[in-house]
Amino acid sequence: MPKVQPPSSDSLSDGRQRHDVETQPTPAELKISEVFAENIFSLTTFKDQVSESTYDKMKGVILEQKKMDFETAESMAQAMIKWAMDKGVTHYTHWFHPLTDSSAEKHDAFFKPRREPGVRGIESLSASELVQREPDGSSFPSGGLRATHEARGYTIWDPSSPSFIRETKNGKTLYVPAVFISYTGESLDYKTPLLKANHALNIAATGVCRYFDPTVTHVYSTLGWEQEYFLVDESFFNARPDLLLTGRTLFGGKSAKGQQMDDHYFGSIPVRVQDFMKEFELEALKLGIPILTRHNEVAPGQYECAPMFEETNVAVDHNLLIMDLMEKIAIKHRFRILFGEKPFAGLNGSGKHNNWSLANSHEKNLLSPGDDPGSNLQFLTFFLNIIKAVHDNSDLLRASIASAGNDHRLGANEAPPAIISIFTGSLLERVLSRFKTEGLSSGAAADDEKIDLQLTKIPVIKRDPTDRNRTSPFAFTDNRFEFRAVGSSANCAAPMTVLNTIVASQLAAFGREVDSRAQTNPNIEENIVAVLQGYMDDVERVIFNGNGYSEAWEKEAAARGLSNNKTTPVALEAMISDKAKNVFAAQGVFSERELHSRYEVLLENYINKIAIEADLFEEMSRTYVLPAALDAINKLGEAHRNLKDMGLEDEAQSIASQAAPVAESTKALTKDLAELMQAKAAADSISDTAALAQAYCDRVKPCFDAARANIDRLEGLVDSKIWPLPKYRELLFLR
Ligand code: ADP
Ligand code: MG
Repeated sequence: MPKVQPPSSDSLSDGRQRHDVETQPTPAELKISEVFAENIFSLTTFKDQVSESTYDKMKGVILEQKKMDFETAESMAQAMIKWAMDKGVTHYTHWFHPLTDSSAEKHDAFFKPRREPGVRGIESLSASELVQREPDGSSFPSGGLRATHEARGYTIWDPSSPSFIRETKNGKTLYVPAVFISYTGESLDYKTPLLKANHALNIAATGVCRYFDPTVTHVYSTLGWEQEYFLVDESFFNARPDLLLTGRTLFGGKSAKGQQMDDHYFGSIPVRVQDFMKEFELEALKLGIPILTRHNEVAPGQYECAPMFEETNVAVDHNLLIMDLMEKIAIKHRFRILFGEKPFAGLNGSGKHNNWSLANSHEKNLLSPGDDPGSNLQFLTFFLNIIKAVHDNSDLLRASIASAGNDHRLGANEAPPAIISIFTGSLLERVLSRFKTEGLSSGAAADDEKIDLQLTKIPVIKRDPTDRNRTSPFAFTDNRFEFRAVGSSANCAAPMTVLNTIVASQLAAFGREVDSRAQTNPNIEENIVAVLQGYMDDVERVIFNGNGYSEAWEKEAAARGLSNNKTTPVALEAMISDKAKNVFAAQGVFSERELHSRYEVLLENYINKIAIEADLFEEMSRTYVLPAALDAINKLGEAHRNLKDMGLEDEAQSIASQAAPVAESTKALTKDLAELMQAKAAADSISDTAALAQAYCDRVKPCFDAARANIDRLEGLVDSKIWPLPKYRELLFLR
């Protein structure tokens, strides 16, 4: 695309200067261990800066799920302020996650000017200012919880997630992770409910753990996310209004070469991309994000990164932080990063697999099957309770990952289906079927545990106990579940809140049942086995080890009674069901009002996204596509006339037949666009939010498909010199 040149100046299209987003250059030979966590306020950082009792309390908060009191918070805050100032920090901000697609921050200076003559002012901040702030609660989505005149909201420091310093060339700012609640104490963010769910999980799971080990003091969930993304060259990105405003291409003809050669996945990483990766990884490592893995993904231009897993709340913050870092550092490398679930039709979309497990206070992974899972009652207890929880609440899990972007992915042919089933692998399936009838038994381990290639130079390896299944939305892999259906742009807090809540609810119910049996049978192990065996029908119903992409599975899942909510408006309804109200209220995660407000916010988000896409679709068609088609027709018309003037009738006719499909598609597109706008206007007259979302889903969105087919056809017919938008091949294959 010769028309589109990379911007030569340091001004970016959105008004920022390139150096705004630059980070410090770092020597290539640096050891990770020398920089890791240097910019976070961690237990190691403040050990020598606070009293022993404050340190112990803080350790309890960070590592042992203990409660924070205000006095400890204040002394910690004091130490943090000193630490930050010593490092040359000038500003601070609470960093929180309202129900939008991005995090929120408002920077304030540590500096306090003085009125006395001759005194300029001083650098100071009180501890209470750091603990609690008061942003305007009405300017963020609240789904009706806050009216414009009820503005007060609070952000409160979350000491369990480390505060961190971000540096740009312009200075350093202290970021303090915080929850965001309304004046009435209702949550307006993603973090508050997650912390509540984590708390509920800790209580319920610790109770169950103590059947096996009375010394266990707490249980927490672990999360290791895998972030997929696309990189596009900045100059092409800037020339695509759809990428700029919606993060996905609204149209674009198929590139002759796409991903059919399977040559991108794990391929050699392009140098320019690797430079970008190295830089954001280093910045992430300084912030204590244990980023370890990088590779090419399946689609051209698609990549992945993954850290070592961490406690869920910290892992969620780290994911949000790294997404922000990646976005800024990509700009420096003249890339733009796409976190959307489906930027390109016909190519793999992006997900964010959430690897999730439970660990107890002895750092034992509760989902480690061990060598003999059939006799490992603690493993079976947690494993089966989780499967039962997913079975009973699959619609809630599905709702937790519903978004306009993810609708393009779930159920399409390269991503997990909208049916939430569980993959266990055949070994564990055998173990479970034996458990159902016989209870505990040993020796059901894999039959061929070794792979021997009979090549003298290649060592014999041990086979993993489970195979992998990329078609499963919720797969057991070795010693954790992998929730694969989460969208790449999602805030992991949403699915993790639901997962931890339903597991807490299930474990609590399990504990009650086991305890009530104890009144007639003192043998705890027998009671546990009996209760678990009672779950087996439900457990078997939700396990599916076959091909989740197949049509046969869709039919079978329906026969099994599993939900298959394909679109966001339908999926979200589960959030306001009686079941949802009961489960979330009983675990203290959401009140009914909070659930309703969240439902509203998510619907509005869905509607807004599709409305923006519809308006942009129409505008781009009118101002880019149709004029290009017209130019093409005029050019062909001129050629036609010229040939006729020359007396070349037949040849002129061939030009006319080239013009005919262009004219045809132009005409059809004009009609499609009118229909799109009509459907949108009709939808916009609906006042009920749920009905409006449904109308956008059923009537507006399908109009894109017809129009797109005509546009993509035109792209293949119109002179490339005239076509005003970068094509898929430019967007995808640039190195
Ligand atoms: P894959 O082969 O599935 O692409 P990756 O190496 O990309 O694997 O990612 C696997 C993720 O699973 C990592 O983030 C890893 O830390 C995480 N993980 C491993 N064990 C656990 C666990 N017990 N709990 C949570 N996450 C885990
Ligand atoms: Mg991976």
